[in-house]
Amino acid sequence: MEKRVVITGGAGFVGSSLCERFVADGWSVLCLDNLCTGRLSNLVALEGNPRFDFRQVDVSSPYEVQGPVQGVLHFASPASPFDYHALPIETLQVGSNGTMHALELARVKGARFLLASTSEIYGDPLEHPQRESYLGNVSSIGPRSVYDEAKRFAEAATMAWQRTHHVDTRIIRIFNTYGPRIKAGDGRVVPAFIAQALRGQPLTVFGDGSQTRSFCYVDDLVEGIVRVFERGDHMPYNLGNPVEFTMLELAREIERQIGDVTTIFEPLPQDDPTRRKPDITRASSELGWAPQVPLAQGLQATIAEYRARLAAGMLV
Ligand code: UDP
Repeated sequence: MEKRVVITGGAGFVGSSLCERFVADGWSVLCLDNLCTGRLSNLVALEGNPRFDFRQVDVSSPYEVQGPVQGVLHFASPASPFDYHALPIETLQVGSNGTMHALELARVKGARFLLASTSEIYGDPLEHPQRESYLGNVSSIGPRSVYDEAKRFAEAATMAWQRTHHVDTRIIRIFNTYGPRIKAGDGRVVPAFIAQALRGQPLTVFGDGSQTRSFCYVDDLVEGIVRVFERGDHMPYNLGNPVEFTMLELAREIERQIGDVTTIFEPLPQDDPTRRKPDITRASSELGWAPQVPLAQGLQATIAEYRARLAAGMLV
């Protein structure tokens, strides 16, 4: 029988890598995306593949999918602070209505469901590193609340469909991820610094640059997603790289790889978490998963793809 998954948000940075991986693993993939932040150019490698299908659909509105489906992976959402500030209502809608539509699709088809949640559900964490049991320190009214609360609602909806309708659900909490194809202009720190360095512009460090993040290379993340999908249970899994860097350390590594750069300091955005680092004990002990790609190596691959896009006049 044909194995088929529906991936919402499949034209996005992570979603498109996931589409490629599922096709490579022998699945048929139906990608649904309204292209509000995703891009068709992310899917060129899958163009014409008989096991890949793209439909431009806003998954926050009702939609239908014909035929059998064994998996629904809900990745549709603006995900960078820049994008969800620009699309606050859409972010709330896709986290609420979009998630419930995807859960209903899974229920009706008897399919497994996986929610792409986020480390943002921990807010500005008071526990460090963050375990899945940590309940978070989240503002319900701050500028990040549209994303954080939408994803918290999405997790609650996923648990409700699991408890009420016995849908076979998974929740992953994705920490900062980077890699080729991440949008240069979406404001996230890795693409921002690389694009600035390649264009000879100063790197914009927010605050004093002592805040930390841990950066996971996209291929490592996708491997974790597949393991949770195939072998996980319904309780949340953190997926991220536990190696923590300050923003100044990140800037220095990019300078080491690209050459002379200058740095300017800009105000720290409101609600910007001071520290973030996943505790991945659960994913590593239960699923044998751990990130394999060190930051220097992942940045090298990302910088190479950025150089090619810049040369082609397509770095956006
Ligand atoms: N940041 C920065 N310069 C930039 C963009 C971001 O110093 O041009 C900082 C930002 O303040 C945050 C960290 O980098 O502390 C990570 O930001 P990003 O937007 O990538 O993701 P977040 O983890 O905040 O969702």
